[in-house]
Amino acid sequence: MLHEKYKVLLFDLDDTLFNHSYCYKKAVTDTVKFHDCLNHLDEEVFFKTFAKNNQQLWKEFQCKRITFQELTLKRLISTLNQLYINISLEETESINEFYHGNYLKNIVPDPQIQKLLKRLKGIFKMGIVTNGTSFNAYKKVQRLGLNDVFGDEYIIVSEETGYSKPEPQIFYHVLEKFKINPEETLFVGDNYYTDICGASSIGMDTIWVNHFDLKPPTDTIPTYTVKSIFAIVERLRIKI
Ligand SMILES: [Mg+2]
Repeated sequence: MLHEKYKVLLFDLDDTLFNHSYCYKKAVTDTVKFHDCLNHLDEEVFFKTFAKNNQQLWKEFQCKRITFQELTLKRLISTLNQLYINISLEETESINEFYHGNYLKNIVPDPQIQKLLKRLKGIFKMGIVTNGTSFNAYKKVQRLGLNDVFGDEYIIVSEETGYSKPEPQIFYHVLEKFKINPEETLFVGDNYYTDICGASSIGMDTIWVNHFDLKPPTDTIPTYTVKSIFAIVERLRIKI
């Protein structure tokens, strides 16, 4: 059986185990909708501006020039400045808190994913490898009702290891934690660069959850490609 080659199955979190993009966009647009100082703005324009600032600041966060908390406040401050919204720092911080609460609230358990992961847990050791803060990562797993599938010890977060995907150090950290060789490890993720290129660079096999049917942008070829996480059981020839 194909799946016997692997002992450990590792998952990315955002947009692999839940629809992060949806929760993120809904939190941003609800933030606009539910604040009097913002609700005259076009939600789409606000979202695009916010997302662009997020992308730029994320690079600084990954280079460890700013903390995650600074990133989240700065992306909001920049967005407000660019859209000519003049409010106090206190009000900005309260809007930022609303955004975070709303984002987490949008994350809900998915019985299908729970069933799939429980089945896989009967076969493999499993972990999560995610870029971001520990607080958020544990909270997301809790909101998804996946605590009994992934113990805290096996949720590996960039903030704790000091390295972010695709840096090889974070993947080596995981190998050490599981006391496993890369050849016996399979990494499942949606992001071609951070997940697939990162895991491949240290010799892990990979499953690319390619939601949008993209062509691999470089010559790193995923071991398997699926359109949805539910297809991994067929790829690994597992009976469910
Ligand atoms: Mg992802």
